Amino acid sequence: MTLLEVKNLSYSYKTNQTVLNSINLKIEEGTINVLLGLNGCGKTTLLKLIASLLKTKTSEIFINGKSLNNLKNNEKAKLISYVPQLSSNEEDFLVKDFLLFGFVSDLKFYEKPKNDQVKKMHEAAAKFDIELLLNKKLNELSGGERQKVYICSAYLQDTPLILLDEPMSALDLKNQSLIIRILKELREEGKTIVLSTHNPNIALILNSNVILMNNGEICKFGHCKDIVKVDILKEIYGGQLISAKEVEYDEVTISR
Ligand code: ADP
Repeated sequence: MTLLEVKNLSYSYKTNQTVLNSINLKIEEGTINVLLGLNGCGKTTLLKLIASLLKTKTSEIFINGKSLNNLKNNEKAKLISYVPQLSSNEEDFLVKDFLLFGFVSDLKFYEKPKNDQVKKMHEAAAKFDIELLLNKKLNELSGGERQKVYICSAYLQDTPLILLDEPMSALDLKNQSLIIRILKELREEGKTIVLSTHNPNIALILNSNVILMNNGEICKFGHCKDIVKVDILKEIYGGQLISAKEVEYDEVTISR
């Protein structure tokens, strides 16, 4: 079943610069979709539009067949979670309070989190190996720790669609492995994930679809085994790309 459909989506921040040009995309439920493309090609803009953080009147984005234009913010919050790119915004919240904010769309104004929500928060913290961070403030964490907390928050929101902008950019290989394992589990549970990365191998490790973007357009969309190939990626990333089989050193990577 199609979970996300983007129809004829164009976007400009300023009138003279088209950042996205007629994007059409259909994403099936229970899939992982990796956005690849050069810096500035429009990956973040596309994710922000799907997350409704940017708006455009000329196109429609559908989730489960419902147009986002017709949904209230709390309805959208139940459908979509979004993890932005790591930034240096220094939030003063305790990690445990930040994680509990994830339940806000289920709570009434000023209602305290319920016991089972607090329990879920602790279980999620254990899953993401961030229990020791719960009583720290977000602005006291390393970039990688903060990134795990943000992904954990998206996990707790338990939405059918999860959008992640470069979620592993600050993670060491052990933590990348942990996140990859969790993303695969979420796919097994039927969640739909769209994430951007600069490492095409992540798509191979996830055995995911790839959305390859160039200059604000989708130039290829399909399974990673058909797209993460030197001859295809060379056209985007340049002629210096070679297959890891051809390098004379042992490349260290994460196993599937
Ligand atoms: P990517 O995520 O692929 O690196 P972005 O979606 O962040 O690309 O950016 C696409 C283009 O839009 C770039 O040329 C960038 O300079 C421009 N852009 C991004 N954000 C803004 C903004 N807030 N105002 C004006 N231009 C922007």
